[in-house]
Amino acid sequence: MNSMKGSKSKVLSLISTLNPLANPRGAKKLCELCEKPSYLQCTKCRVTFYCDSEHQQADWVGIHEKVCQLLIPIRTTVDFHSLQADRDNHCAQTLQRQEELIEISRAVAQKSLFEGKYQQSLPASQLSLRCAMNVYGPRALQLVPAYLLLAEANIGLGSLAQAEEYLSQAEWTVMKMPECSHTIRHQLHRNLGRLYAAKDNLEGALLHFANDVYYSCEEHGLENIVTCGGYFLMANVFTKQGKMDIANSLYTEVASTWHSHLTTLLDTHTQGSRMLPQLLDEAQQAEADQMLRAMLEIQESSPKQDAAQKVLVSHSLAMLWFLGGSLDKALDFGRQALQLSQLVPDHSLAEPIQILMQLAAERDQHPTNAS
Ligand SMILES: [Zn+2]
Ligand SMILES: [Zn+2]
Repeated sequence: MNSMKGSKSKVLSLISTLNPLANPRGAKKLCELCEKPSYLQCTKCRVTFYCDSEHQQADWVGIHEKVCQLLIPIRTTVDFHSLQADRDNHCAQTLQRQEELIEISRAVAQKSLFEGKYQQSLPASQLSLRCAMNVYGPRALQLVPAYLLLAEANIGLGSLAQAEEYLSQAEWTVMKMPECSHTIRHQLHRNLGRLYAAKDNLEGALLHFANDVYYSCEEHGLENIVTCGGYFLMANVFTKQGKMDIANSLYTEVASTWHSHLTTLLDTHTQGSRMLPQLLDEAQQAEADQMLRAMLEIQESSPKQDAAQKVLVSHSLAMLWFLGGSLDKALDFGRQALQLSQLVPDHSLAEPIQILMQLAAERDQHPTNAS
């Protein structure tokens, strides 16, 4: 409680009342979130404005904290006395920085979505959309990822009409661009599937998820962590329909895909190779955690539990948290996985689980050796 109060006052201390007279004439400052007239200014960058402290705080938590300083060069206009060459150089740099900003804010929004923080994801998606519009224009294909993030957040918030609007923008843009990538198409169908599922049109949802898996497969292959996100969503629909056998076989597919992916990451990591493959980014880690834990919960509440799947899932969670640096969680899930592994006929996972727990325990005692 106290820490919450502390962080709130920290946020509030960053803003100061904006003196309207200090603005250059004609330059209207609009709220970063709602584009209404602004009365507050971020005192750290001085280039971002808000209508009230609530929007300032929402933006700070949602994205601004991570991009505050990056916005300064983008939003500072170059002195008009300078040379043409300087101005050109400034333009090129601004463009590159905006492209970086699109990526950063997209990743931040994606992470919040995977964590189920739908409201908190909105400022980051909005910033990503606005930068993409600046750089690529209002009808470009590059806007679609931001539309999809905004749609997903609105589905999570239950604002289905708003979500539908973003999705039809995205659909329209994709339709006009035959060269559109498989990745965009798979993401579009994934979100259309989510919308249909939220509207209880389960058959429609399954059709979109099937398309999602098809396009993802074209891009990433079948046994891939991105593609199996579509399987997971299909399995959720089959669960809703009471078709538990189909759902369970899809969940097992998801579990073994993540299990083998994490095993490979862990092997490379423990071999001490300096050339680490790109480990999971924060958004992927949040997605894996959310999916795997949901699968454990579904198993717990199921009348006939699939112990083999539970071993795979809890071992995956142990590896995920070991790689993510949360050793307590790694040990907890490791213990669970080890217990479960005694209940299944195939004992082949017991050894790798024990080795992982040993590693986690050693690292826990000698944290300085961690890196
Ligand atoms: Zn506002
Ligand atoms: Zn700022």
